[in-house]
Amino acid sequence: MEHLKQADAVVHQAVLDEESRQLGQLEMIASENFASPAVREAMGTVFTHKYAEGLPGRRYYGGCEFADRVEDLARSRAVELFGADHANVQPHSGAQANMAAYFAFLQPGDGIVGMNLSHGGHLTHGSPVNFSGRLFRVAAYGVRESDGRIDFDMVRETVRRERPKLIVTGASAYPRALDFRTFGEIAAEVGAVHVVDLAHLAGLVAAGCHPSPVEHADVVTTTTHKTLRGPRGGLVMCREAHARIIDKMVFPFIQGGPLMHVIAAKAVALGEALSPAFREYGGNVVRNARVLARTLVERGVRLVSGGTDTHLMLVDLRDRDLTGKDAERALERGGITVNKNTVPGETRSPFVTSGLRIGTPALTTRGMGPDEMTRIGGWIADILDRPRDDTLITRTRARTTELCAAFPLFR
Ligand SMILES: *Cc1c(COP(=O)(O)O)cnc(C)c1O
Repeated sequence: MEHLKQADAVVHQAVLDEESRQLGQLEMIASENFASPAVREAMGTVFTHKYAEGLPGRRYYGGCEFADRVEDLARSRAVELFGADHANVQPHSGAQANMAAYFAFLQPGDGIVGMNLSHGGHLTHGSPVNFSGRLFRVAAYGVRESDGRIDFDMVRETVRRERPKLIVTGASAYPRALDFRTFGEIAAEVGAVHVVDLAHLAGLVAAGCHPSPVEHADVVTTTTHKTLRGPRGGLVMCREAHARIIDKMVFPFIQGGPLMHVIAAKAVALGEALSPAFREYGGNVVRNARVLARTLVERGVRLVSGGTDTHLMLVDLRDRDLTGKDAERALERGGITVNKNTVPGETRSPFVTSGLRIGTPALTTRGMGPDEMTRIGGWIADILDRPRDDTLITRTRARTTELCAAFPLFR
């Protein structure tokens, strides 16, 4: 970063500090990951200069032959990886991918059904503070209080009552496998379009560790930066019948020029995800999550649904004198980064909460395995038991620093 150092010492130092932060603590935010150096190099290339509105072979600008090459590569790799008919790799983020999917089928005022945000859904699935809740008539389902699993009786009842035009399946904080087939059948019953938002699960599906939604959905959206381990961005896939309308919604309806440097990086990441090493990675992510969940449960930590099938778990702190906010802060001081999260039946505000979301994708990328998960699980349980014990937190910070040093990254 010689040029950056010369040109802007403040930004240069912020980048170095951020790199030290990422390396020096245990990154357990379930939606984060570490992209490969190749993916990051592609993002820093001259493709950032290029305007390429339109699609490969049909651009509104000249000089797009190499942009076409990387975008075609990204599209064909996405189609191959997920077994979809069609892919659009231009959405700037997961939220944009969802927006394109909704506007392909909906008019303002139309009905959608999605998962309750406080039960694990996402803002773009109908929250009143998001465009989805402002523009569409939203009904939400949730999980059963008794076992923390999606209540399909409630899903069916909601869908039969509301007769939505579109059902969005997906979650940001649901630790169990998603039954795409049943959601697809419920959508078909009322003639609703079925959109699956795979953001959190994309890498697991790509690695063959979670059932694929592709045959049960009209449209599949995803982020590329979570378990899929690519650059920050979005992706939409769909059946051939919807290809034209999806492409038109991404551009020109909601976006302008595509981020060609990010699309080049998406091509690299999708290539990586097609490799045998990535299948192994996905398997390790899930195995690590299981080991961590078991360790926590054995230590008396309550998990929503009692465990996990995926890369994440949700700690329910309601049996303790501790909020999600204070638990997040105590763990961070111990060198463990997680995020506070609402739990099903939440009574506190989203800034306080009664839960924590913990994930294994980033630490698995770092090369950590079951032994490290067992140790880390013990440290987390210690801090949740004694969140105000400064001696314990200082001792844990020393241990996390030592563990981080044993698993270097970015070389
Ligand atoms: C992360 C996420 C998104 C949004 O992705 P952004 O890139 O942050 O816009 C959408 N849906 C779900 C389920 C997510 O988890």
